[in-house]
Amino acid sequence: MNKKIAYVSITEWNRKVMRWIWISIGLVIFIQLLLFLFYQPVPECSKREYLDIFVIKPSIMIVMYAGCMELIFRFFGEALGGYVTTILFLLIQFLLLGTVVAVHSSVPYMCMILTYPVIFANVYREKIFRYAAFVICILVYAGITYGFIPSTEFRPDNSREVYLIIFVGFTIVAFSFSKVLTSVVVNFEKENQKIYEENQKIHEEKEKILEISQRDSMTGLYNHKMFYDKLNEQLQLCSEEYHLSLVIIDIDNFKRINDTFGHAIGDSVILKIVSIIEKNMDDKDIAARYGGEEFGLILTGKTEMEAYNVSERIRREVEAAAVDGVTGRITISLGMLEVKPGDKNGILLFKEVDSALYEAKQTGKNKTVCRGWRKGDNAEYSYQNFSSSQ
Ligand code: GH3
Ligand code: MG
Ligand code: MG
Repeated sequence: MNKKIAYVSITEWNRKVMRWIWISIGLVIFIQLLLFLFYQPVPECSKREYLDIFVIKPSIMIVMYAGCMELIFRFFGEALGGYVTTILFLLIQFLLLGTVVAVHSSVPYMCMILTYPVIFANVYREKIFRYAAFVICILVYAGITYGFIPSTEFRPDNSREVYLIIFVGFTIVAFSFSKVLTSVVVNFEKENQKIYEENQKIHEEKEKILEISQRDSMTGLYNHKMFYDKLNEQLQLCSEEYHLSLVIIDIDNFKRINDTFGHAIGDSVILKIVSIIEKNMDDKDIAARYGGEEFGLILTGKTEMEAYNVSERIRREVEAAAVDGVTGRITISLGMLEVKPGDKNGILLFKEVDSALYEAKQTGKNKTVCRGWRKGDNAEYSYQNFSSSQ
């Protein structure tokens, strides 16, 4: 079964990232305000200056960046297309996080927040976004480290409490971040499950349709086309070791049965005969209703003698069978042969077996005529053509 795999679309993922960014920005601003409250002014930087440099300016900048992202996403996303929008998205994410890193450059490991977009970029499952995020991440960090991107020179007295607050902030961001990722994974699973179930249903329906197209609706036996398909298939397998016999059955005087007892009773006769045929078949044998009241059997692994015995058993059981509403005997005639290894022409074989059936009809009906070729295999059956009747 070809199994499609669910994936989050670029737009869908951008929407999730966007939401996560707004939540994170809220948190960053909150932490910055908290740091401001804890800040003990020093001569180089008054509380007012701290508020300006570490809270107001960076907050305005990151809100502006996120606003740009939201605008691009909402109004230009479609026009720009998924790829351009996403590259812009990545760039703005780095500008935003880069701003936080540059402002708080004195905080150890602050730069680690630059790795978030790298992880996010993997969800797109597009190489270009992964590598772009990776390269931009390193460039932004290098830019800040080597001074190409201005960062605050001033290093406020970062106490243990300040670091603790920032660390808690990181953890909360990572917490919500992992939640976003998990929701995507869960979504994948749900989608995959749905797709799997859909595929399964389609597969089952296909099987059902195939089954219907191969079988006769009244008896459940293979239909005319399948009879030939199966015959040709088996002819390919036939060899000195793998015997194959072909039997065709026609109900005797069936028109009369219909005329005398009615069509519905005629149908019951067909079903009764089918049940007798099926009872006498092995699992690997193949039975088909190749005509209205004509049946074909492909007996696998059976020599002419074995097939003859099966045919005769069926014939006798039909003769002895009783069908409600039918008075008198129901009989069938059978033509059969064992396929010679190397005989691959199904149509010719059928003609031959049909001539055996014709012979059975012509010589009194209620008999099996075999086109035998295994001379001397068994004393009882050591003649060219043999036939039987009660
Ligand atoms: P014979 O002994 O020579 O075979 O004579 P017959 O009367 O059986 O002749 P034939 O084999 O040509 O019979 C075909 C008849 O089978 C004609 C048709 O009305 C009947 N028949 C075919 N299919 C069905 C079916 O599904 N139900 C019923 N009730 N009759 C069917
Ligand atoms: Mg017939
Ligand atoms: Mg008939």
